[in-house]
Amino acid sequence: MINPQVRVRFAPSPTGYLHVGGLRTALYNFLFARKNNGKFVLRIEDTDRNRFVEGAVENLIAALKWAGLQYDEGPDISGPYGPYMQSQRLEIYHKYAQELISQGKAYYCFCTPERLEALREEQQRMKLPQAKYDKHCLHLSPKEIEENLNRNISKVIRLNVEPNKKIEFDDVIREHVEFDSNNVDDQVLIKSDGYPTYHLANVVDDHLMQITHVIRGEEWLSSTPKHVLLYDAFGWERPVFAHLPLLLNPDRSKLSKRQGDVAVEDYRDKGYLKEALINFVALLGWNAGDDKEFYYIDELIEKFSLERVNKAGAVFDLQKLNWLNAEHLRKKTDDEILEMLKKEIENSEYKSANLSDEKLLLIIQAMKERVTFVRDFIYSCKYFFEAPTDYEQKAIEKNWKEDTSLHLLRLKDEFEKLTNPSKEDYEQVLTQVAEELNVGKGKLIHPLRLAVSGQSTGPGMFDLLYILGKDEVIKRIKTAIEKIKALIK
Ligand code: GLU
Repeated sequence: MINPQVRVRFAPSPTGYLHVGGLRTALYNFLFARKNNGKFVLRIEDTDRNRFVEGAVENLIAALKWAGLQYDEGPDISGPYGPYMQSQRLEIYHKYAQELISQGKAYYCFCTPERLEALREEQQRMKLPQAKYDKHCLHLSPKEIEENLNRNISKVIRLNVEPNKKIEFDDVIREHVEFDSNNVDDQVLIKSDGYPTYHLANVVDDHLMQITHVIRGEEWLSSTPKHVLLYDAFGWERPVFAHLPLLLNPDRSKLSKRQGDVAVEDYRDKGYLKEALINFVALLGWNAGDDKEFYYIDELIEKFSLERVNKAGAVFDLQKLNWLNAEHLRKKTDDEILEMLKKEIENSEYKSANLSDEKLLLIIQAMKERVTFVRDFIYSCKYFFEAPTDYEQKAIEKNWKEDTSLHLLRLKDEFEKLTNPSKEDYEQVLTQVAEELNVGKGKLIHPLRLAVSGQSTGPGMFDLLYILGKDEVIKRIKTAIEKIKALIK
């Protein structure tokens, strides 16, 4: 059923780049919003001033836009619930923290870092499973509190977590989740620098921004009991929670920089198509229930549902991403590829190679089935851009026999007689020469390929000749005969 009320958000803390895990979270939120005719909000959670990175928000926005995940409200798109940068909402968090204080659900804490450290050490010595604040400041008298406030002593505001309670919530993916409140610390809501913690700001904003579904990575599951306590303390309705499975390296450890790229920008710069990356990331933890793996974003919107997101961690398989990249590239029209290829050439050493569009289109057609990236149209077939400077050694050993030079000279002579040869003309000549020399066609094709391209594999032989053109083919045959002769002497 289409729910016009759906509002979801992607709420990254700007770290300087967009993590692929972040892209997955953003994508699932985007898909869910579009599918349900809802709104997709971008909220920047920049309340950790120690982690401030210049330009991080701009990078993030650029990466989301590159991927095509356009949000409806965000830092640069005004909406009814803004501003969408938490650092611009500080009074709001203070107001709500005060509300909790006035109801006895939160309290000021003036403990020094030294006292907290001593407490931690003591609890470690007692082998308590986790360090917890001992509610010392909860018991200060109103007079003591006032004095401390007047003296401007450094302070934080903490949530007063009731002990011995079961904290329960439902999660679309994790199902029913329970935590014991004895394991939940009296978390800080407002830090000593006056900034809110993630927990307070996140809950207040999700409420004020009328977020209906909180879709985020599993690493936030352990924060959710704290959030649930806050919703209950404020008397607010909880959103629906959906915690997405972890992303794993192929060895099933948590996806990390050490084992490969994690920044969306890195994949973009390496030449991955946004369609392929989106398709790949969509399958990290979700499937439509069939074997289909190739998707455009519109089909993903149509098929996506939170119910079909898995619990189990999703392995980041680069081979699959490469495969999808090749598939998406192949599905593009030749003209689309031409535009991309021209840009790639512009940034390559073949900038001044001056190949006509017509020739580039022929290269595209010949190579389309053999490439993974746009740049492969250059680097896996450099011979279209320049004559080979060397020849595959193994292929020489295998295919360059005593009589090869003579055979190729014979071919060359026949090619010379042709005017404006087509692919078929080359093929006919080769078949005829093979017959006359009484050798199999392969005996001519392998060394011919080596002579004109320097390589033993590539596109169809006659495509290759046709694209290079008669004069170039003849020139290359002559050069190869001389060079290879010198090499095998
Ligand atoms: N700011 C958190 C992050 O960096 C947001 C987590 C959430 O979605 O609640 O991912």
